[in-house]
Amino acid sequence: MKSVKEKIDALVEEIKKYDHNYYVLDNPIVSDHEYDMKYKELERLEKENPEFLRLDSPTKRIGGEPLSEFSNLTHEKRLYSLDNTYSIEDINKYIEKVKKIVESDFTLVAELKLDGISMAVKYIGGKLEYAATRGNGKVGENVTENAKTIKSLPLSIPYKGELLIRGEALMRHSVFKEINSKSEKPFANVRNAAAGSMRQLNPKITAQRKLDFIAYDILSCGIFFETHTDELRFLKENGFRIDEYSKAFKESEEIEKHIDRVLKKRETLDFEIDGLVLKIEEKNLWEKAGYTSKAPRFAIAYKLPARQETTLVEDVIFQVGRTGVITPVAKLKPVNIGGVVVQHATLHNFEEVKRLGVRKGDRVFVQRAGDVIPKITSVAEHLNDDMFVGVIIPPKECPVCNGDVKKEEVYIRCTNPDCPAKNLRQIQHFVSKTALDIEFLGEKTVEILVERGIVKRPSDIFRLNKDQLLDLEGFKEKSVSNILNSIDDSKKTSLSRFIYALGIDGVGEYIANLLSERFGDIEKLREATLEELIGINGIGEKVAKNLIDYFEDDRKESELNELLEIIDFQENQTVEKFFSGKKIVVTGSHPDYKRNDLFDIIKRGGGTVQNSTGKNTDLVVYGEKAGSKLKKAKDLNIETMTIDEFIERI
Ligand code: AMP
Ligand code: ZN
Repeated sequence: MKSVKEKIDALVEEIKKYDHNYYVLDNPIVSDHEYDMKYKELERLEKENPEFLRLDSPTKRIGGEPLSEFSNLTHEKRLYSLDNTYSIEDINKYIEKVKKIVESDFTLVAELKLDGISMAVKYIGGKLEYAATRGNGKVGENVTENAKTIKSLPLSIPYKGELLIRGEALMRHSVFKEINSKSEKPFANVRNAAAGSMRQLNPKITAQRKLDFIAYDILSCGIFFETHTDELRFLKENGFRIDEYSKAFKESEEIEKHIDRVLKKRETLDFEIDGLVLKIEEKNLWEKAGYTSKAPRFAIAYKLPARQETTLVEDVIFQVGRTGVITPVAKLKPVNIGGVVVQHATLHNFEEVKRLGVRKGDRVFVQRAGDVIPKITSVAEHLNDDMFVGVIIPPKECPVCNGDVKKEEVYIRCTNPDCPAKNLRQIQHFVSKTALDIEFLGEKTVEILVERGIVKRPSDIFRLNKDQLLDLEGFKEKSVSNILNSIDDSKKTSLSRFIYALGIDGVGEYIANLLSERFGDIEKLREATLEELIGINGIGEKVAKNLIDYFEDDRKESELNELLEIIDFQENQTVEKFFSGKKIVVTGSHPDYKRNDLFDIIKRGGGTVQNSTGKNTDLVVYGEKAGSKLKKAKDLNIETMTIDEFIERI
């Protein structure tokens, strides 16, 4: 028979192991149910036998009583900042300079520069002693109770000597998204969220923020390490999460390639990074390199282009889209974000405006990620104290045609079928690259032609003549003949492009393709019944209804007939898909694409769907909450892309 103490000890060790697998290794080894049962059992035993309660028990992570203030903690080792570089030339200069100082060649380890809050954590006799924020580098705040709520930070470790480490407390993008979308007062970015959560007086709130901790340096330890990589390995062996992407390089050309890879990776990492940190691998050179007044010489940061800046909202305009949805768009004081000048940011819809609490004149955080349209993540400050100044009021009528508007879910739509804004957008859509692809007829030209009343409907485009175009300001023989030729070329098109070009609500490229394959002929599609349409795998009731409405509309019918006189359908070119012949795993979820839709796409394109990631997998396509299948792909170095990237590629 085990004694109570033995039972408690065994449960603590067991749950510690589960936590480590789940939170540090991202590799759960028990079901949630089993975990909960063990946890409850431990809680019960501890309650009944408080004398055996261990300080490193996982039940101590839920957060104790709120504090009235943090106490200061003087750092045993100064927490230095880092000098920054912005180019490979800077890095080369740095290497040359330090080589002279240390009188030796060296290797550099490139680590991710994690964007959270820097911390010092101390262990004595294998137990977490304290955790402190960086503060000014010399004195920080004692945030031990908060740190204990971070599940990836071990409360006890195998190493029994004194150990002082440094690492970053972070909030994952996925957690940030979840917390921020529910919050009355959203955080500007993951860094503020991590810092704000760490410097919370109530540890119970910190616990809800689900922070992570990644260790990256040993500040002091009884063991001497020859290399920085050895230190990282030691941290890993002691149960810390470390940056799995860290890599040692001898040549700066290799570092340059690595930077490119990291830049691409950045979009898919759940942790925000703002650069790389390069550290000398050989530890005996650290002392030799020494420190400047604020930073070590044995390490340097390479900053990636920022993805967020603050700027002023000069105005908010209402844009009416092709389907009548009215979108509030912020006109910004131009700001350079990572090399691109941003002047507009979408506010998505009026619910979002309300949630952000944004008003005209505010200073806001603007974020740009990948090629996505810049978005406002939060208000930095209201420059006008009067809360009624600059308020953004949802329109009661269409800003373009004054037509009635209707609220549908979070959207407000103009209901006027003749709305000129809708019409213009539809014509622009019709000629766009993914629709009829009229190469030389740009959005702006379409706008002018529509404004002048020369083009009223898509079919008018095919009646344009040379004189009409030469009449426009700045149009010469050459550009006019380019336009006319590209209009002529566009008459030869595929059925799926044509269906897509019609701009029927909800009929994107994918559905247009489905319809084209299923019916193969526009007349057959026109005669399709609601039941037939709903019966197609991948088409929902709403889209089916939109199709029926479209084909029953008299005016649409006459326009369609005119277009059909002009269009010369070509065989649906079966384009060789980039993934044909490949073995593909789909994991995680996506708000717009169901698993089955994606499976269909893959099969149609000649790919094979696999259930789990293995050595012969060619590609892993992942959405939100992707788990072990994605992790395995990374371990096996298999190509991965998000569902959005995948859809974009096809
Ligand atoms: P800066 O804030 O620009 O002075 O950069 C220094 C900060 O980089 C430190 O305070 C750490 O919080 C952070 N940092 C993130 N990742 C690392 C890393 N792998 N090694 C060292 N510092 C890091
Ligand atoms: Zn309108």
